[in-house]
Amino acid sequence: MDQCIICSPAEDVLVFRDERGTVLLDGPVRPGHVLVGANIHAPFLHDITGESAAELLSLSQVVAKIIVEQTGAEKVYVVAIGDKDKHFHFHLVPKFAADASLGPYVFGANGWAGTFESAAESGEKAQKRITDAIAGTLGDGN
Ligand SMILES: [Zn+2]
Repeated sequence: MDQCIICSPAEDVLVFRDERGTVLLDGPVRPGHVLVGANIHAPFLHDITGESAAELLSLSQVVAKIIVEQTGAEKVYVVAIGDKDKHFHFHLVPKFAADASLGPYVFGANGWAGTFESAAESGEKAQKRITDAIAGTLGDGN
């Protein structure tokens, strides 16, 4: 049976749950690493409501502040990959000053350029189309 870690978390991994989301331990890579997930089955950011996204980010912000206070980390990486879980979620991972930057692991050793070479459109053309759509949808911000 496929047991969902957010709907039915084991008692020893559930840290907190309220209407905003669920905080749990999902194989922490280091002390302070937690998962903060939406309570509904909706795997991607574009699947959840704006209200749910705001609530989840608000909960994540409070948890990130606690992680920094408790670990002395310089910051908290916020990672949302969405490859396997049924719930949209963030991984919050403390990053210490002595740690190497995670950027090269995510975006490649040469930075962002060339990371997504498999995209069908050229990067410049795709970027213009996407930024135009964002601006067209959101308007001028007023
Ligand atoms: Zn679930």
